[in-house]
This record gives sequence, structure tokens and C-alpha cells, in this order.
Amino acid sequence: MERQQEFVLRTLEERDIRFVRLWFTDVLGTLKSVSVAPAELESAFDEGVGFDGSAVEGFARVYESDMVAMPDATTFQVFPFEGTGIGESARIFCDIVTPDGAPSWADPRHVLRRALARAADAGFTYYTHPEIEFFLFEDPVKGKPPVPVDEGGYFDNTTHAVARDFRRQAILALERIGISVEFSHHEVAPGQQEIDLRYADAMATADNIMTFRHVVKEVALSAGVQASFMPKPFTDQPGSGMHTHLSLFEGEDNAFHDPSDDIKLSKTGKAFIAGLLKHAPEYTAITNQWVNSYKRLFSMPLANRVNEAPAYVCWGHRNRSALVRVPAYGKPNSARVEVRSLDSATNPYLAFAVMLGAGLRGIEQGYELPPGTEDDVWALTDRERRAAGYRQLPANLAEAIDAMADSELVAEVLGEQVFDFFLKNKQAEWDDYRCQVSAYELNRYQDL
Ligand code: GLU
Ligand code: MG
Ligand code: MG
Repeated sequence: MERQQEFVLRTLEERDIRFVRLWFTDVLGTLKSVSVAPAELESAFDEGVGFDGSAVEGFARVYESDMVAMPDATTFQVFPFEGTGIGESARIFCDIVTPDGAPSWADPRHVLRRALARAADAGFTYYTHPEIEFFLFEDPVKGKPPVPVDEGGYFDNTTHAVARDFRRQAILALERIGISVEFSHHEVAPGQQEIDLRYADAMATADNIMTFRHVVKEVALSAGVQASFMPKPFTDQPGSGMHTHLSLFEGEDNAFHDPSDDIKLSKTGKAFIAGLLKHAPEYTAITNQWVNSYKRLFSMPLANRVNEAPAYVCWGHRNRSALVRVPAYGKPNSARVEVRSLDSATNPYLAFAVMLGAGLRGIEQGYELPPGTEDDVWALTDRERRAAGYRQLPANLAEAIDAMADSELVAEVLGEQVFDFFLKNKQAEWDDYRCQVSAYELNRYQDL
């Protein structure tokens, strides 16, 4: 660690970097940033940088509001593309501690760190790989519906549109700061893009997602467009999911791989999925945390298209309508499960932590995996789904809050402070939303 800190200080000097941004994330997944001069960084490594926690969502009650951001030198990164004549800048992610040095319970990185430590106790390391979907809109006009930058569709090569150039710029910027991109393409909806990050351990991936959102927004801004991670901006187009592939390793070996199984999925992998399924309604408020998230999960079947956002709790081998999909894979180390409910506006630290907690619970308690489905679960009737035992995910934020409030598992993974704050905050969001009179209601009822 010491050596890493020296490397940071030396790099700042050699490259004449004047600003170092210290980053952390609040409970709702918003990136927070405070800039320090390089001269201050040495003491920041030792003592951290104080801030008023009561001004940050979920961090502290007012009477205990002093908080300290401790830079994690291993996350140091120079941002070469932001040199607009004033030189380069850099950023470091921080862990948040209280003035007496104890980790803050409100820090999402700490929540994930604790979940990772539990996995390590059981002999596992946890890897994740997100497929991030988002929209590009024309320069937004307040109060007007967003306008997508193109009319492209799935895998379209939009020759003269902003999107292709944008993806190239964004990917170059990401690669320059050490975030490897695996795939990118135009998604189904007009203006919708997808960029998939390469596998990494869950903490690095969560940090990378936060960085990704920042970089993509910046690149969009300089192209005169807006990048939006809103889960469902249009009624009649698919929303933006963040399907995430998960795997556990035991040492060098992928714990989900078993060559003798018919879909090459180990007992550990099966119990992990069983945990994900059993607890899915309880952690959906975390993976899908906004009122708008549920418009994506429960969107109307779109003309001639399968709804690829999952609303029912089931799993399948290659099945894109299921909540959990087991993709076919080649190399043993690529064994993984894909959770398809998450959307692009989730807090990745918390989402990765609750999914890990659910999967580990399945392993620890030897949950039995129910049979998989090859059906398009959307095409079944309610009665058929019930007969097959596919429960529905919470249909809106209020149902998701109720399911989470009763969850001993989610309370344990998040810790009491985040758990309580989150439920209160989300209840307030729901209460605010449910008394709004919408355009839909005026259209439908004004003539009454
Ligand atoms: N946009 C879809 C969703 O909301 C996913 C499309 C896909 O399969 O990549 O989950
Ligand atoms: Mg996609
Ligand atoms: Mg996918």
C-alpha cells in the first residue's frame, strides 16, 4: 500500500497533475467528488479528507455528521482526455470512515467489501461482468420528451449517426484509463447503446461502472448529446438493463464449472442460482431502485418483439425471458450465470453485494434448484405461470419495498443503517410519485 501511495505521488509530480478528484458513492449510487491539490494528498493518505456526511444521501444523521474519505491508492487513475489546456487530472476512489477510523456503515464500498469478506471465508472470490445499456438523446429541452439521436436498431451500423462515432470515442476514453471493453453495439431502441465491460473482481467492476457512467456522460456532453441511464425513458421501446454475469472462483478454478453436468453447471452453481431465485423479490428494490425501474420490468409486450426484461422468477439455459440465464460457454473458467433484472441506474456496489448474499445463502443452506424453463415466460398465461411455479417480481417500487422490509437476508447484507435509510428514502419516493396526476390519466379521464 505504501508503495502504491508513493507511486501515486510520484506520478502526480512527473505528469504535473494539478487536480486529484477523490470519489465515493452515496447509498443511492450517485457519484460524489472532492478535488484536492497534489500537495494535500500525502496527508489525505494518512488522515483522509473530512466532509459533512449529513449532506450526503444515506451517510449520517446530523448529530454524527463528520465523515472522512480515505483514498484507496490502488484505484488511482489519470484521466488523460480531460486535459483541456489545464493539464491532466486524476481520480482515486475512497473508503469512508468515521472520525475514529471505523469503516462507515453507510459506505456502499464497505457494504460490498463486507460481502466479499464473507465469500472469502467460504473460500470464494466473486467476479462480475456487466452489459450496460443506455440512451443517447439530442440536447435535452426541459419539459419536452427526449429525442433519440438516431433511428437505429439492434446491431445496426448507423453510418452517419452520432452513435457509432460516440461509441468509438467512449471506448477509447475507457481503454485509456484501463477499463477494458469487451463488446459494444447499437441496442434495440432508437438511440440505445450497449457497452459490455470485461470480467473483473466485483469491487473493481463496481468502481469501473461508476467511472464508466462518468466517462460516458462526459464524452456525450462533448459530442453535444446526452447519455441517459434512466431505466425506461419510452413507453413503447425497451428500457436499459444492466445484465450482469456472476461467477465464483475457488483459487484458480471456476466453482460453477462441472464438465460432467449436462449444462456443465456445478452443484455450487446450481445452489447459487437457487439462492438468487428464492430471494429475488427481497433484493429487487436494490437492483431496480427507482419508480421508473418497474416500467422496464413490466413493459407492455412490444409489437413483434419479445420483452427481454424479466418479470418472473425462473431460470433457463440460454432463455432470454428468464430472470437468471445460464449462457453456454467454452472455456471452463467462463462458467457463469447472468442476472437480467438489474437496470443501468442501480447502485452497483449494493446490487453486487445483495446478489452475492443471496447466492451464498443458497450454497450454505444447500437450496435445491427448481427445474429450468425453455418457455418464453412472457408468452404464458398467468395461470400457466402459476402452475409452473414462476413467482412474479415486485410489480412496482411499493411492492419491492415491502418485500425488502421483511428480508432478514438483505438487512444482514446491507447492515442496519443502509437498510433503514434505503427503505425510508424509497418509501418517500413512492409517496411522492403516487400522488402525481400523469399525462396518461388526463388523456384517459379528462372527458369524464
Ligand atoms: N434492453 C433489454 C432489457 O431491458 C435487454 C436486451 C438484451 O437482451 O440485451 O433488459
Ligand atoms: Mg443488451
Ligand atoms: Mg445479456
